[in-house]
Amino acid sequence: MKTIIAGGGIGGMITALYENKAGSEVTLFEKKSSTGGRLAYHRHGDYKVDEGPTVVLLPDMIKEILEELDLKNRVEMQRIDPLYPLHFPDGTTFLKWSSTEKQKEEIRRLFPGEEKNFDKYMTDMETRFTEGKEAFLTKAFLTRRSFWTPKNVKTLWKLRAYQSVRKQAAAYFKHPKLQDAFSLQTLYIGGSPSETPAIYSLVSYSEHAHGIWYVKGGYAGLAEVLTEAMEERGVTVRTNAEVEALVTDGTRCTGVKVDEVVENADRVVLNGEFPLAEKLVREPSRSYKSSSGCLLFYFGLNEPLDTEYVHNFFMGENLDNHMNDVFKKYRLNRDPSFYVFNPSLIDSSLAPEGQGVAYVLVPVPAGRHITRKEYQDYATLIKRKLIEKVDENLETKTVWEHVRSPYEAKIDGLFSGGSFGLAPSMSQSGIFRPQVKPFAYDNVYAVGASVHPGGGIPVVMQGAKILSRVLNEDAAGQGASPEDV
Ligand SMILES: Cc1cc2nc3c(=O)[nH]c(=O)nc-3n(C[C@H](O)[C@H](O)[C@H](O)COP(=O)(O)OP(=O)(O)OC[C@H]3O[C@@H](n4cnc5c(N)ncnc54)[C@H](O)[C@@H]3O)c2cc1C
Repeated sequence: MKTIIAGGGIGGMITALYENKAGSEVTLFEKKSSTGGRLAYHRHGDYKVDEGPTVVLLPDMIKEILEELDLKNRVEMQRIDPLYPLHFPDGTTFLKWSSTEKQKEEIRRLFPGEEKNFDKYMTDMETRFTEGKEAFLTKAFLTRRSFWTPKNVKTLWKLRAYQSVRKQAAAYFKHPKLQDAFSLQTLYIGGSPSETPAIYSLVSYSEHAHGIWYVKGGYAGLAEVLTEAMEERGVTVRTNAEVEALVTDGTRCTGVKVDEVVENADRVVLNGEFPLAEKLVREPSRSYKSSSGCLLFYFGLNEPLDTEYVHNFFMGENLDNHMNDVFKKYRLNRDPSFYVFNPSLIDSSLAPEGQGVAYVLVPVPAGRHITRKEYQDYATLIKRKLIEKVDENLETKTVWEHVRSPYEAKIDGLFSGGSFGLAPSMSQSGIFRPQVKPFAYDNVYAVGASVHPGGGIPVVMQGAKILSRVLNEDAAGQGASPEDV
């Protein structure tokens, strides 16, 4: 059985390793010079800093998959607790903790009386997480019937899928700052807290229940481990090799075209951003809404950035206004909330001795309607805020800096310049998100952030695991039973 995978992101690589383990002859084509996709380092001389993902969530999901692929011992993870501070413009700093007792103490300190709300939130969410994960993170929905079962409808109701994450947070917490603190996690997957359905509240809950972790050496180290494993195990990896077209015969795909050469295959998996990869199939498409984009800064510093914690949120005056600008008005907000990553506090391998790296992420609209010049001016405004709010010596510490906007992201192949694929909206989630077997061709499959179950490293890995079960069932001639996968 010969499997071709178009794209070496985390989704493509995990699929390659599962299929290699199942005995398939796998070739992975990656159009860039290295594998990893968004899971990559930004490198500058002796410095390296994660370019995309930094927040490691759902550690058990990651570990389980690495264990199944006999790779668990190659990735070392360290727990981060406290999770992160939220610095508000009035000078209040609220610390989020994975430790329940410490979190309650912190809520009691700043929002007395609300600690019991946290207890209720954690208890309710525990049941919802267990049921929601089972219903929506472990199965492919290859038919509408497989999604709309009485059990799933009941679970959707329990998860309050009709509410937004923000509304759900407001059902537990009275203070707007707490509502912000328990809903901004939708930004990890590029959605607005007030538009993302409450099924995604599982992300906010998971930080507390399962923690935030750090992959030693940086999250992108995981891509290196997977690349090494593919090479050791006989997966053929071809970089600088773009899949330009599918070769088809009736309802089957017989191969792909790379550099004008036809490469034959028994089945093909597309890992590129779905709306773009879909174009290779030349089937009628629907229109999709992109997730938010990011204005990103990468810094090499002659000493570590002055923050007390690895992950940090600096809040603007009004998160709702910022979100409105990003998701509804599609313009740059003058007082945005932003995220600062300071891994050098716990990892000396990223920069020359005594020095540091840092990363700043500001949520901005996707698309290319904002010009490069506007982004440059915006970056200058954000730099002033960084000096004012984060580290007054940033300018003198900076050895090098690099700025990236949705403009570059789009050129780099991200759908509409958004960072996280399709927006996690109701109409693009669950059965409404492209599935692992989305085309009329019965041997063309898809995997990745824009495909069910969705974005974020652990969830894309889980998507690859779901896909590999479908592939194996199809190979065994059983056809995938949607109820089992
Ligand atoms: C700024 C940023 C911050 C993020 N933060 C987090 C975080 O903290 N935690 C988290 O879990 N997730 C985070 N994410 C999301 C996470 O990075 C993605 O969900 C995940 O990496 C997507 O993996 P993928 O396999 O779908 O696709 P990608 O990583 O996009 O990989 C697809 C690959 O396919 C290649 N390709 C495309 N078309 C072709 C073709 N025709 N032929 C050959 N190759 C092709 C591309 O070059 C690319 O390498 C972040 C993302 C960004 C951008």
